[in-house]
Amino acid sequence: MTSDLGKLPEYEIIVGALCLDFVNTLEDRPSPEPVERLQRYPDVLEWAKQAGALTDDQVNSLLDIAADDMGAAAIAVVGFRDLRESMYRIFVAVAWGESPAAADIDTLNAALADALAPSYLVPKGGRFVISWRDDTEALDRVVWPIVRSAVDLLTSDLLDRVTLCSGQTCEWIFLDESRNHSRRWCDMKTCGNQAKARAFYRRSKAQGAN
Ligand SMILES: [Zn+2]
Repeated sequence: MTSDLGKLPEYEIIVGALCLDFVNTLEDRPSPEPVERLQRYPDVLEWAKQAGALTDDQVNSLLDIAADDMGAAAIAVVGFRDLRESMYRIFVAVAWGESPAAADIDTLNAALADALAPSYLVPKGGRFVISWRDDTEALDRVVWPIVRSAVDLLTSDLLDRVTLCSGQTCEWIFLDESRNHSRRWCDMKTCGNQAKARAFYRRSKAQGAN
């Protein structure tokens, strides 16, 4: 399988919540040509590894399972993208203070049921974490922590910090944890600088016209 992987993409994991980083794997949504970063099952695994959702061993085990049934892996990715777009629409609705569509909540609830069934509690550092057995053959294993993250965020006080990037073609969703809710960009280095450059261009054009 490894020889089929080709060059795996590098992902930007920046927004402060696993589920939102997942949502942002479709880039430039408002543009005529959005960029799909989850093309193949190994892409999803690589993203999950870079996001800290899966260990190397878990990734390798799922790669082996996917290699045994490439058709099923391809179908699984289509399902992951559908789930991602439902999450996107839910979080956009949240950011706009609107009610999410029932169909999107149904999609997330179905994924939640799938993720909860094989989950179990593990004592960790005097507290507990949810984990999943590593002996699973389920290709969906990769999205279970993401579903968990979405449900955690949707049921937490951080929900009112969910914000849409103001970048012109971005619409990445991030958690604005600034004290006065003033963060406007997913990443100052990209969208923030582009906006500053645009503002500078507009100002210099306006001055030139005078
Ligand atoms: Zn942005």
